[in-house]
Amino acid sequence: MCGIVAYKGPKLNAGKVVFDGLKLLEYRGYDSSGIAIHNNGNVEVFKKKGKVKNSEKLFKNSKISSNIAIGHTRWATHGEPSDVNSHPIVSYNKKYTIVHNGIIENYKELKSLLEDEGYKFQTDTDTEVLVNFIESCTSKSEDFAKGFSYALSKVTGAFGIVLMVNNNPDILYAARKGSPLAIGQFNGNFILASDASPIIKYTNKIIYLENDTFLKISGNSFKIFDFKLKSKNKNFIEVDLELQKVELGKYDSYMLKEIMEQPNSLTQTMLGRVKDNDITLGGITDENGNNLIEAKRIIIVGCGTSWHAALTAEYFLEKYLKIPVEVEYASEFRYREPIIYKDDVVFVISQSGETADTLEATKIAKKKGAVVLGIVNAVGSSIARETDEGCYLHAGPEIGVASTKAFTSQLLVLFMIGIKAGYLKRHISESKYYKMINQLKEIPSKVDEIIRESSLIEKVAKKIYKKDHCLFMSRGNNFPVALEGALKLKEISYIHAEGYPAAELKHGPIALIDKNMPVVVICTKSDEYEKILSNVMEIKARKAIVIGVLDPKNFHMKKHFDHYIEVPDTSKDFSPIINQIPLQLIAYYCAIYRGCDVDMPRNLAKSVTVE
Ligand code: GLU
Repeated sequence: MCGIVAYKGPKLNAGKVVFDGLKLLEYRGYDSSGIAIHNNGNVEVFKKKGKVKNSEKLFKNSKISSNIAIGHTRWATHGEPSDVNSHPIVSYNKKYTIVHNGIIENYKELKSLLEDEGYKFQTDTDTEVLVNFIESCTSKSEDFAKGFSYALSKVTGAFGIVLMVNNNPDILYAARKGSPLAIGQFNGNFILASDASPIIKYTNKIIYLENDTFLKISGNSFKIFDFKLKSKNKNFIEVDLELQKVELGKYDSYMLKEIMEQPNSLTQTMLGRVKDNDITLGGITDENGNNLIEAKRIIIVGCGTSWHAALTAEYFLEKYLKIPVEVEYASEFRYREPIIYKDDVVFVISQSGETADTLEATKIAKKKGAVVLGIVNAVGSSIARETDEGCYLHAGPEIGVASTKAFTSQLLVLFMIGIKAGYLKRHISESKYYKMINQLKEIPSKVDEIIRESSLIEKVAKKIYKKDHCLFMSRGNNFPVALEGALKLKEISYIHAEGYPAAELKHGPIALIDKNMPVVVICTKSDEYEKILSNVMEIKARKAIVIGVLDPKNFHMKKHFDHYIEVPDTSKDFSPIINQIPLQLIAYYCAIYRGCDVDMPRNLAKSVTVE
């Protein structure tokens, strides 16, 4: 889940490259960090629980300068976050040092095999089992590569690893099964990292290591093999990622930067796709466009925020495509023997394109013969490569752990797909099609209007940030917006929050309501509006603190709300994008007032590459 950075080469100071890179990966969320570095025939390890600066301080005190090092930010899965459980981890006989992202599922079985061989363990991690297993297999094998690939093929679970050979500073190994690893090469220098951001400073030509392959860097060249030792081609791709896009600029946090960027990220999502009076989605060929139009059913799969985007799209796609749409949590879908027909179209949604459960769901749907279309932000990511076709979000790198701009771009992509398909299916008339396109074009400036008034939203957040609980409610296509609003608040401010369809409150949650319970009601003009107002009356009668998200059409109703936020008038279909913005800002300001680190919320990681 977390970060790997490794460097080998003649030119640069390895310690600096590794720590600079680890800092760029901090956004992924982690609980400890460390570095291993070759130093005059020895490998020295510096690791520490907490922030990267803790292990960096230890390392800097050592004054070691060398040209080969491996570094890691750990998001603990096996064993508590502690100095000893941090990576890098040295093997029992001190032959190898490893950094590892992911989970070794059969670690218990391997551990008992190794214990029978006399291995002893210092940490509680699955990673130590892996490095010892590699040591055991390679010591029994006639050459390293055979033992290494054998060990890797026997391991189940997910890993991205970099392995140092302790008595040879000229060699570095890396391997991948599941957890991503990227490699950059320039003038005999090599940088490996779990995503491209630490590499692009040096080169934009990158190889994403394929699943079930490993890499050997020796001297100033490298080779890639699969686990059967068959040599593989090196497929460099050019990544279009500018460093300033991953830097904070004038903002205090990535989350705020990304919220504020939304007028631009939404424009980018539409760029080249919404023009004149037409929508063109280059990522979906005519053939798959036809498959979508003829599909009897759509299934949308995602996790977390992406699942909320899927749920919002369900309302839109059923309305305009007139076919059933099923929305699934990827983690449930993959394990419940889902019924998938060949004429189903499956959308898989993931910001990072590396979400382990969604990637697995993609493979299952493909195996069953369905057309699988990816909606992904990270270009070249595993899901992007695994799916038949799809649409990139083009929202730019999302660094903040709590997803904001990726969510609104996911909605926009799903709406664009729905409008085009609905029009081609003749459920959307030509005049309605043009009207909808114009409404799409207006979205970025409406988002901008809300952002410019963010100080008013801050005032509302100030009223509720001390509370322990908060409810969000709405109806229809804004019900998923309530869910996402609640998720944002709990993710970054640790206020317990839940989202409900407004009518559901009576079926239980209303028992929670008293004068200390804020309830955020998304109440913009829609067919459900009158009914939502009745639900507002019910909670007001029980003394809830009622906060309304209102648009000009019902602004005269503000008297019913203790506090309100005004959003611009938008068509009901696209209102989920607009209405999400104030909820992101409420969560952000509540977290700031509570002194929380919005970019690194506790226990969370950005790219969830373990299931
Ligand atoms: N499973 C490993 C551990 O708990 C690696 C976790 C990670 O991806 O950071 O140490």
